[in-house]
Amino acid sequence: MAKLVVLPCEDYSKEHVSACVDSIFADFGGAEAFLVKGKNIFIKANLVTDLPPERHGTTHPMLVECIARRLVQAGARVVVGDSSGGAYTRAYMNNVYRVTGMTEACKASGAELNDDFGFSTVDLKGKVNRHQEIIDVFLKADAVINVCKLKTHGFTGYSCAVKNLYGLIPGLVKAEVHSKYPELDDFCDNLIDIERFASEKILLHVVDGVIGMEGEGPTNGTPRFVGKIIACDDAYITDVAAVKLFDEPSKMPLLLKAVERGLLNSDFGASCVDYSECEKAYIEDFKRVSVLHALFNKRGFLRRFLRKEWVTRKPVIKKSVCRGCEKCFRHCPRQAIEMKSDKSTQKKRAFIHSKQCIRCYCCQELCPFNAVKLKKPFLYRVMRALSVSKSKKTKKQG
Ligand code: SF4
Ligand code: SF4
Repeated sequence: MAKLVVLPCEDYSKEHVSACVDSIFADFGGAEAFLVKGKNIFIKANLVTDLPPERHGTTHPMLVECIARRLVQAGARVVVGDSSGGAYTRAYMNNVYRVTGMTEACKASGAELNDDFGFSTVDLKGKVNRHQEIIDVFLKADAVINVCKLKTHGFTGYSCAVKNLYGLIPGLVKAEVHSKYPELDDFCDNLIDIERFASEKILLHVVDGVIGMEGEGPTNGTPRFVGKIIACDDAYITDVAAVKLFDEPSKMPLLLKAVERGLLNSDFGASCVDYSECEKAYIEDFKRVSVLHALFNKRGFLRRFLRKEWVTRKPVIKKSVCRGCEKCFRHCPRQAIEMKSDKSTQKKRAFIHSKQCIRCYCCQELCPFNAVKLKKPFLYRVMRALSVSKSKKTKKQG
């Protein structure tokens, strides 16, 4: 049976975060209980891109530092890393480590930064994904701690423990995988296939939910105080607990898919663990993302009557903000982005060809200047308003 720990944490001070980390390890029988002595432990953080900690799009370095220190004290060799959305190279990742605060976190804790940028193709034996390139640092580790960030996500609705494991796919290969699974239904199956493969090595999932991200997550949203650190040995229970802080698990296609595949009970694990700490801390006015494109799964009833573009947010480039860095252009899985010369300035600016776009929102996630805006079509706004008022009614009745 899964074990869930939900702790209040009011800020990222060393005192408060290390008290939470000590408490988590104590609840799981101590770091020593994980038998980490002499083992290679990989801390898989969320380092989606080179964002400083105060933007709260990546795992906070203090949480990584405190977990790493505890494992080092227990005799483990600890390696910290991730594969960001950009190139999986030493130069690119060293910059990400520096900006996200991981360099300092490793120095302070006695951990090492991952310096192995190799990857290998493995037999996932998944439902939709049979073979996948996976980063070697994960494959070579004896065990893994998945330290994720609580965020909204334009495509999947939220990002937490399961979505964080998408970062086991090396840099630019992620775009190919997005292209292979353009429908959310298949993409969720793919995420679960990766989680199933990874789960054997994962000792613990820890959620950085002290300050999460609301609105335009996973990188261009607004930091929002949530005040929780969650730990669990099951990825889906972890995600349900995190989602319960700001939304309903039944609205998340990934969690519904986990129920469908028998990885969660139909009550989202409520009969196995106690979610009351999360339910009590529910944030009513959290800026959520509606995953209306879930209606467009293969069996979706509405698929026959509505066009996807009518109910999904359309990425558009704000020309005045775009600096022409080409990051979105290089990573778009459908080559839907063109770099065009601006007539007045002659400078290159990105332009999205909407018909080719599969609404994966990688461009929005990766743009370092927040130049990709998501336009809400009329029908999207109507359906979102209806779903918000229904959700309020349900909460009141509950
Ligand atoms: S939209 Fe952003 S990522 Fe794309 S070229 Fe412009 S500044 Fe770069
Ligand atoms: S334009 Fe942006 S949202 Fe559309 S397919 Fe390309 S990266 Fe994805």
